[in-house]
Amino acid sequence: MISYTESYQIVKNEFQKLKLEIEEVDLLNSLNRILADDVYSDINQPPFHNSAMDGFAIRFNPNIKKWKIIGEISAGNYNRFTLDDESAVLIMTGGKIPENTSAILPVEDVITDNGFVMLADGKSIKESQHIRKKGEDLSEGILALKKNQLITSNKISLLGACGKSKVKVYRKIKFGVFTTGDELIDIDGKVTEDKIRGTNLYSVISLLNECNMETLNFGFVKDDKAKIREKLADAFNSDIDILVTTGGVSVGKYDYLKELLIEFGTEVKFWKVNIKPGKPIVFGIWEKENKTKLVFGLPGNPVSSYVNFLIFIKPAILNFFGITPDNSVMAELTESIIKKDDKRNFFRGRLEFNLEKGKYFVKASEAQSSADMMQLANANCLIIIEEERMNPQKGEMIECIKI
Ligand code: AMP
Ligand code: MG
Repeated sequence: MISYTESYQIVKNEFQKLKLEIEEVDLLNSLNRILADDVYSDINQPPFHNSAMDGFAIRFNPNIKKWKIIGEISAGNYNRFTLDDESAVLIMTGGKIPENTSAILPVEDVITDNGFVMLADGKSIKESQHIRKKGEDLSEGILALKKNQLITSNKISLLGACGKSKVKVYRKIKFGVFTTGDELIDIDGKVTEDKIRGTNLYSVISLLNECNMETLNFGFVKDDKAKIREKLADAFNSDIDILVTTGGVSVGKYDYLKELLIEFGTEVKFWKVNIKPGKPIVFGIWEKENKTKLVFGLPGNPVSSYVNFLIFIKPAILNFFGITPDNSVMAELTESIIKKDDKRNFFRGRLEFNLEKGKYFVKASEAQSSADMMQLANANCLIIIEEERMNPQKGEMIECIKI
């Protein structure tokens, strides 16, 4: 059976067949998109020397402790003054400083009296204190943000400071999703007899939303060849880049999906990977008249499809956009784990950072069934136990993927 490492490499390579396209969005719509262009600063930031405090601008002279107030400047309202050693200008934070300013006296450090300002008892002045120099944050022409990174909220002000009212980002990959199973009813339906609520559609679409990708919801389909054919035709005729299905890829009598994908011309790159959970995953590529779509058939168990997404689809999306995943940490096991096979196992677990000890600790969840949604919901990581590693012991370090 193919290993995780080999199969993921195949997925990563096949993603390169997708078109990496760039579009422009308004700054306000750029959050959580991936920057597709290096951003350079077109100006100095700040554009002029200005005050970092509400206070008084003075020309520093160590022998002088009292200044005559000759006027005021507030942010955005510059008045021209030239300071000598004995004059001061009242200035507000962000105000452009007068000529000859070499220190700002914060309001908190002075007393004013009858048109004069004096240093308060016990306060001292350092030359150039509280002055923000022109270009101190960004100098004109400097590379402010490198492309191929997620635009998080802390980068918005910098993009704005560089004048980017429009931001170049990569086009979102468009995913189609459907789930299969005679036993499935939608979550607002009534659970009767041998039916269950089909939750994968919601889980997979949410995972895609978390990655900020575009999704087309093809809904539910029965384990019926004709009905699945119809869905596949809809999906392949649509403008999606990647199809993700759940259920029907194992070895059950009614697991038709792989066979039908092949009937539609999909070249299966692998089926069944030496992992747990999520072994029955099928991955293929469908090409017709210059159109290429990747297809992931994930198994139906909710934990299996979730784990498959996290270990195949999410990292491949990031890699496609030139981003290295940063959600992996090493943690110390607080309890030994018994692993029953030579597959690469992805145990659900809880990870916590211990501030005093300066490291992560992790404990595997009690139940590791691939149908157990409670344990999945309460987990915050996947613990990776490689193929050759058998029973990791308490105290050993182990790799975890934060979820
Ligand atoms: P399958 O991969 O189709 O053999 O399904 C494996 C298990 O997952 C079965 O117990 C199914 O009932 C269950 N299952 C399949 N699809 C879903 C779904 N969308 N939501 C929740 N459970 C599912
Ligand atoms: Mg099924």
